[in-house]
Amino acid sequence: MADDGRVTWLELFFDLIYVAAFIQLGDRLSADTSWNGAVVFIGSFTLLWWTWTGTTAFMNRFAVDDVVHRLLAFVQMFAVGNMAVIAATTPDNWRTWLPVAYIAARLPLLLMYVRARKRLPAAKPIADHALRFFSISLVIWLVSIALPDDVRPFVWAFALLIEFSTPFTQRDAAVDAPNHSEHFQERYALFTIIVLGETFVKSLTKLADTGIRFETQVFGTVGFLILVAIWWTYFDDVAGGHVRSTSAIAKTPRFNMLTWVYTHLPLTMAITAFGVSSKKVLGVKEFGDAFSANYTWLLVLSVMAVLLCVAVLDLVTVSPHYSIEAPERVGPRLVAAVVLVPLGFLVASGSVGALVGVGLIAAVVVAQIAVEVVAAAKSEYRIDKEVRQIIDDRTGTCEHLEAATRPGPVPELECRECVAKGQDWVQLRWCLTSGEVGCCDDTPGQHARARYERSGNPVIATIEPGGTWAYCFICDISDPTWLNRN
Ligand SMILES: [Zn+2]
Ligand SMILES: [Zn+2]
Repeated sequence: MADDGRVTWLELFFDLIYVAAFIQLGDRLSADTSWNGAVVFIGSFTLLWWTWTGTTAFMNRFAVDDVVHRLLAFVQMFAVGNMAVIAATTPDNWRTWLPVAYIAARLPLLLMYVRARKRLPAAKPIADHALRFFSISLVIWLVSIALPDDVRPFVWAFALLIEFSTPFTQRDAAVDAPNHSEHFQERYALFTIIVLGETFVKSLTKLADTGIRFETQVFGTVGFLILVAIWWTYFDDVAGGHVRSTSAIAKTPRFNMLTWVYTHLPLTMAITAFGVSSKKVLGVKEFGDAFSANYTWLLVLSVMAVLLCVAVLDLVTVSPHYSIEAPERVGPRLVAAVVLVPLGFLVASGSVGALVGVGLIAAVVVAQIAVEVVAAAKSEYRIDKEVRQIIDDRTGTCEHLEAATRPGPVPELECRECVAKGQDWVQLRWCLTSGEVGCCDDTPGQHARARYERSGNPVIATIEPGGTWAYCFICDISDPTWLNRN
């Protein structure tokens, strides 16, 4: 992260290396969809994602981008590339090479913490905590090389569990060096979109092999529809939404943030697996041909996993713009995920042809978005109508409205008090005296009104898109076009 909170070029480069590594893992899964293939895919994906998350969390906390840091990051990228090749090609001695590559990918992070610890007194507690857990794990990885081949994967799983527990056990260690949740969310969203884009690359590569045929164009359209629907499901709903302080899943801000972070592991894994299966859809020769049972399940399970992961993310975030509550966002996802199960059996059994089967799967994924969009539009329409009614009933002006001026540029579109409480808001109001933003009377918090009652600043304006009215609390009068004239 740069000092101003933006994603750095190093971080972007870093992400691309990882996505290239995921492509390798996806290709291996594509060639081997047996249980063994699935286990190798899940295990190696988890390992890679975890090294990404470790360094991302570090860069988020400590905005370092000097020469030594870059060199350490490059070493890690190189090692990660090797981990992917080892996992993808599984050479005979992979059980020796993998721990070596993993240690090479992890050591740079430990050195980053050592440097942060030396330079910043505030970094000491969190760095000590991370160093303790990661060194124990790395020693276990190292020792594993001396153990019999068959035992090693279990030892690695144990070492990984120790690492996974690091953020859960840090307690107050991070108080003086907090992470920056906005940047964190941006990083995960960016990573997700690169992984998503990669599934498109896969399909294009396949198309370049097969050439343009009518059948592949139709299958391509259906596959693209699912891809777009996945983009919509994640990016329209949870990317950019605030992580709640308390939610149905966790009671503290830290655990909600951790839920957000860890849910991205199955999410990105599922998107990568979806890329593998959608590429296979393009390989079906005729519309009526049966779609292979293995790839059907890969497709169905990966789409289900995306829906379930977004449902979890829905619960721990405040929607960035939908004026509907978390349960209304989660409902369509869960229903769609459940419907996909019998559909999976139908398609895998070969009772329906590939086009009908994949088309039905696409229809389900699109339908869950449609349900949500309609619910949001309905609720927005109802509230807009109510607000307009109130404005029409009490149109006029008063000394307060006449004396008011714009307090500056349009501020950030969020009610801070709702964010702090982890609540949803419906619409937002702008205090024309202080410039602060609060939620409307239709929101449980009613923070714009509460602010007026505290401060006595009487005039607010809407900052909803397209809105132009201002309102005086004291006189209970609205000016429908105040923002146009001021
Ligand atoms: Zn509020
Ligand atoms: Zn007034």
